[in-house]
Amino acid sequence: LTNSLQDIISHAKEYGFVFPSSEIYDGLQAVYDYGQNGVELKNNLKTAWWKAMTQLHDNIVGIDAAIFMHPLTWKASGHVDGFNDPMIDNKDSKKRYRADQLLEGKAEEYTAAGEAEKAQALLAEMGRLLSAEDLAGVRDLIIAENIVCPISKTANWTEVRQFNLMFSTQVGSVAEDSSLIYLRPETAQGIFVNFLNVQKTGRMKIPFGIAQIGKAFRNEIVARQFTFRMREFEQMEMQFFVRPGTEMEWYSAWKETRMKFHKAVGLPAEKLKFHDHEKLAHYANAAVDIEFEFPFGFREMEGIHSRTDFDLRNHQELSKKKQQYFDAELDANGKPYGNYIPYVVETSVGADRLFLATFCNAFTKETVGEGENEKERTYLKLHPALAPIKAAVLPLVKKDGLAEKGEAIAQSLKSSFRTVYDDGGAIGKRYTRQDLIGTPFCIAVDYQTMEDDTVTIRHRDSMEQERVSISELKEKIGYQVSM
Ligand code: ATP
Repeated sequence: LTNSLQDIISHAKEYGFVFPSSEIYDGLQAVYDYGQNGVELKNNLKTAWWKAMTQLHDNIVGIDAAIFMHPLTWKASGHVDGFNDPMIDNKDSKKRYRADQLLEGKAEEYTAAGEAEKAQALLAEMGRLLSAEDLAGVRDLIIAENIVCPISKTANWTEVRQFNLMFSTQVGSVAEDSSLIYLRPETAQGIFVNFLNVQKTGRMKIPFGIAQIGKAFRNEIVARQFTFRMREFEQMEMQFFVRPGTEMEWYSAWKETRMKFHKAVGLPAEKLKFHDHEKLAHYANAAVDIEFEFPFGFREMEGIHSRTDFDLRNHQELSKKKQQYFDAELDANGKPYGNYIPYVVETSVGADRLFLATFCNAFTKETVGEGENEKERTYLKLHPALAPIKAAVLPLVKKDGLAEKGEAIAQSLKSSFRTVYDDGGAIGKRYTRQDLIGTPFCIAVDYQTMEDDTVTIRHRDSMEQERVSISELKEKIGYQVSM
């Protein structure tokens, strides 16, 4: 953990954003709960995504599919047979690692030591062994590179085994009746199996998309880096169904659209980049990640994949139900394109990773004041539309009617924005409390307010104050994510 990630984790906990799950029992690894402020920020991010993907596109609609799905779904999707990570145990420490991550760590060491070529060669060899499923070869490579276990400092490794990442459970109360089902490892399949339901009932014409936000579960072998890699997490996915042959155009278009979104919610351009996949998943003919620069480096936040007709074709085969679309549009020869299984371009972003990126980016420590008055100030520089609390109304003093006036102002804003009223303690302390959770606007009520119905807005980032009339308030603070 870098220092700043540790600071961020502490801040997230101390100010009600993210708590370790079941903390009173010492927590559950790689599972987290969102607190009173975290849930607001996360909901605001989800709303921004939902709006960007559905409301702003005539040809995209949403669904909310169940977490449990028929077991054959995961046969068709390839998850039963192929959703594995190669794991290895150290015999001395009895700790489990992901074999590919050990090798990637070694490659990072080479890069850091200025030996980029060695790093490249190592990653290439690893890629070759993994795609050939040569697990003994992967182990040999770990030994040859003399990779030691961080805890035991020995290279006493077991063999490498494939570990399926799906969680399973049983449906039905009687053992004989019960059958194995999985907690979905991705939300996408709920969209694929509903493709025709939505297309027919919504009279959708290709190209069109289906969007969904929902929980997904993966039994990650090593869970590190806070909410970056969790065992229970949330995905925001959109599957876009297109005519075969047009997928690369849509793939490029969605790459750009999704990058714009991340900038619109306030992530700076220099902390975002595309990372093309050299090695493609079994279902994809093109794939790119949008990476964000977390405190631990550039890492995947969103994946954009051209998935061909892989999923729908497999579902057609296993379900014996046609997954075709009739395209009445005319081709160059004046004939309808006719029946086909559509191709799919998907955009898939983790709500928790977007939350973490937003939180890390907003976390700001700066020195203000000079000389004796110099002090450190911590605040969350969140986009105003995303902040858990939009406005805090703060009367300068409680007496002479200021408290009542403040409460009335807060009341008038509540139906439009999440607004709080706070009259406890010195005004400076109250500003600080709001800074720490990222409230963009503090509205101070003073004696002048009682005379002319004006208040001051104190801006979080600049700490500048602006005098405005109460009737202008809603308009002044009503920021939206503009896309
Ligand atoms: P990684 O390589 O980091 O494991 P992935 O390539 O397996 O991710 P996808 O299957 O493409 O990820 O999932 C799409 C998105 O879902 C990711 O970009 C990420 O934002 C999110 N995601 C995937 N796994 C997790 C997890 N364990 N915890 C939190 N978010 C996740």
